[in-house]
Amino acid sequence: MIRITDILDKAHKYLSREDLEMIEKAYIFSAAVHKDQKRLSGEPYLIHPLEVAGILVEMKLDRSAIITGLLHDTVEDTLTTIEQIKEDFGEDVAFLVEGLTKISKIRFGSQVERQAENFRKMMLAMSSDIRIIIVKLADRVHNMRTLEFQPKDKQSFIARETLEVYAPLASRLGINWMRMELEDLSFKHLSPEEYFNLLNKVAKKKGEREEYTEKVKKIIQENMEKYGLKGRVEGRAKHLYSIYEKMNEQHINFDEVYDLMAFRIILDSNEIKECYEALSVVHAYWKPVPGRFKDYIAMPKANNYRSLHTTVIGPYGERVEIQIRNHEMHEWAEKGIAAHWRYKEGKVSSREDEDQIEKLRELLEIQQEHKDAREFMRNLKISLFPDEVYVFTPHGDVKSFPKGATPVDFAYSVHTDVGNHCIGAKVNRNIVSLKYKLQNGDTVEILTQPGRHPSKDWLKYAVTSRAQSKIKQWIKTEERGKSIAIGRDVLEREFKKNHLTFKKIVKSDEFKEILSEQSLGTVDDLMALIGYGKISTKYIVNHFINKEEEDTGAKPKKKPGVTSDTGIKITGVDDVMVRFAKCCSPLPGDDIIGYITRGRGISVHVSNCPIVQEMDPERLVEVRWNIKQKQTFRANIRLVCIDKKGLLSDLSSVISSLGININSANIDTIRGENATCDFELDINDLDQFNTLTSAFRKIQGVLSVKRVSGTFSNSMKKGYIRNTFNS
Ligand code: MN
Repeated sequence: MIRITDILDKAHKYLSREDLEMIEKAYIFSAAVHKDQKRLSGEPYLIHPLEVAGILVEMKLDRSAIITGLLHDTVEDTLTTIEQIKEDFGEDVAFLVEGLTKISKIRFGSQVERQAENFRKMMLAMSSDIRIIIVKLADRVHNMRTLEFQPKDKQSFIARETLEVYAPLASRLGINWMRMELEDLSFKHLSPEEYFNLLNKVAKKKGEREEYTEKVKKIIQENMEKYGLKGRVEGRAKHLYSIYEKMNEQHINFDEVYDLMAFRIILDSNEIKECYEALSVVHAYWKPVPGRFKDYIAMPKANNYRSLHTTVIGPYGERVEIQIRNHEMHEWAEKGIAAHWRYKEGKVSSREDEDQIEKLRELLEIQQEHKDAREFMRNLKISLFPDEVYVFTPHGDVKSFPKGATPVDFAYSVHTDVGNHCIGAKVNRNIVSLKYKLQNGDTVEILTQPGRHPSKDWLKYAVTSRAQSKIKQWIKTEERGKSIAIGRDVLEREFKKNHLTFKKIVKSDEFKEILSEQSLGTVDDLMALIGYGKISTKYIVNHFINKEEEDTGAKPKKKPGVTSDTGIKITGVDDVMVRFAKCCSPLPGDDIIGYITRGRGISVHVSNCPIVQEMDPERLVEVRWNIKQKQTFRANIRLVCIDKKGLLSDLSSVISSLGININSANIDTIRGENATCDFELDINDLDQFNTLTSAFRKIQGVLSVKRVSGTFSNSMKKGYIRNTFNS
C-alpha cells in the first residue's frame, strides 16, 4: 500500500519544496473529504487517490497533475465544489479536476467498434488539456488493478470499456506500459480461462526461456562489443494479450507463436547512426527475415515512436524479433507523451489529413526543442478534432457531427420521420431551439409531434447533407402535393363552368390520350402541371367541348420539359411557368416570393409587395434568383423635378449613358408647379437600378426619385402623355 511519504520522496527528485507542500496539502484535503468512505475492497477510499497520484509521480508528471490525482474524485463523490478547489489549489488544478469530473460523466454504451472510436474521440475532444486524459488513465489503471472487488457483470463491462477505449488511448499517447497493463488486466477479466491458460503455458517455459534469453543476449552483446558499440540488451516476454491477439489473428496455437520473446538493444550514444550500425551487426550475424525490417526512425509512428525493428533467424533456426533504439527513443517508447493528433494509418491523405500531418511535424519540432517532456506537456493544449462535435443520444450512444450541427441534423440522423416531425429538442434536459449549436458532450433528445413538418428555414441551420437533402425532399413532395390539389381544384371548376362532369372525364380514354400526349404517367402528374400553371385548364377542357371553341382555346404555351430561362429558381421544382408580377416588378437582387396562380404558373412578387400580404399563404412558394444569361426586367421609376427647360434631355442622357432601354416615359407638368416624370425601363438588376437613381439625384432640379409599383397605363389612358419615346 502506497503512502504519501512514498509519493513525496519520488516527487522530491524533480519538484520544488513548494510543490511538495502543495501536494501534501492536497493529501490532507482529500483525506478529510473522503474520510468515511470505503472502497468495495473494504479499504479506506483514500487509498485510491493515493495510488493514482503514485502512478502519476512515477510518470514524473507536474505538480498540478499529481494534486489532481489526489483530488480527482472529490467533486464527483463528495460535497467539495470546484470553487473550493480553485481557492485552495489554484486555477490550474481546478481546471483539471473539472475536466475529469466532466469526462467521468461520459458513459460508454455499446460495444460496437465505431462507437468505441467515437467515444475515444469524445474523451480527447473534451479534454482540453492532455493531463486530464493521463490522470483519467492512471485512475483506470488503479481501478483495473482492483477490479475483482466489483460485482461480476460490472467487471466485464469495465474490462471491455478499458480494452476498447482506454488501452487504445494509452497507446495513442505512447504510454506503452499502461497500454500493456490495461490490455492484460482486461484480458484477465474478459476471458479468464484463456488468460490463465496462457499464463500457465508461458510460466511453464520460464526456465527454458530464461536460458534462451541469456544466450541470445550474450551473442548480441559480444557482437556489439566487437564493433565498439556501447549499450544494453534486454529480453523479455511479450505481454499476454499481444500473444493472445497474435494467436487469434494468425490462427496459430501457442507453440507456434515463435516470438514470445522480444529483444531490445538500447544504445548508450544518442547518435542515430549507431542504431543502424547495431542493425548491421545483428544482420551480419543472423540472417534477416525478408520483409520484416521496419525503419521507425526514418518514419516515426503517429505517436512519435521511433525504433528499428527486425526479425532474424536465431540460434535454433527460430525467428527472433529485435528492436533497436537509443535512450532518447526508449524513454519515449516506454513513457510516451501526447501523440495527440489524428492520423489515419495507410489511408490516402486528404487535404485535411495533410494539415494534420503538418501539425504533427510542427509538434515534433517543438518537442525537440523542449527536451523536458513535462514542459512539453504543460505547454500543450490540445484541440484534436476541431471540426467535429460529439454528443449523446438519450441511451448514451455517441454520435459525431460536423461542428455547427443543430438538433435538426441530430433528428435526421436518427430517422427521416423523426426529422420530419421534429418540433424541438432537449439538450441536457433543457429545451433548446432548433437553431441551437450542439456542443461536445451534450445529451440530445428530440421532441416530435405528429402533424408537424419541416420548414424551409431549417435549410439555413441544418449542416449535414443528410438533413439538407431530406428537408429538400420533403419540401418538394409537399409542394407537389399542394399543386396537385390546386390543379384538381382549378380543373374541376373549369369543367363545371363548361357543364362537364369531371369524374367521368378523368376516367375516359380521351383523358388518357392527353396524358400520353404529354408523356405523363398519372392523373396526379397532370394535376401537378396544371397546379404549377404549366398546362392551362382551357387546353384540357377544349378536348371535351365543341370544335369551333377549340380554335380560340389557348394551347399550352409550353410543353413540359422545355424550360425557358426565366432567371428564377423554385425550390424543389425545375420546370415551371414563371412570370413577374406587374404590381411590383421585381428586380434581381430584390427579396422575392412566388405565388401559385390558378392555371397561370407562378407569379413572382417582391416579398413585401402589399398584394402578396393579401394572398393565400398556402399558395406561396419559395423562389430565388438564378440569372444565367443577361436579361432585363421591367422597372418603373418616378421623379419629381423642378419644371425647367432641358430637364427631359438631362434625364434621358443619364439613362442612356448607363445603357438602359427606355420603354416609355411620361412627363406630367402643371404650369408653375413641379414636374412628375415616370419612366418604364429595362433594367438588369437592383444594382443597376440603384446606380441610376443615385445618378438622377445628382442632377440639379431633381427633387425626389422613387421606384414605383404597377404600370403607368392608367395615366396613359387619361391622356397625360406629353412625350413617349424609345431610345
Ligand atoms: Mn477515481
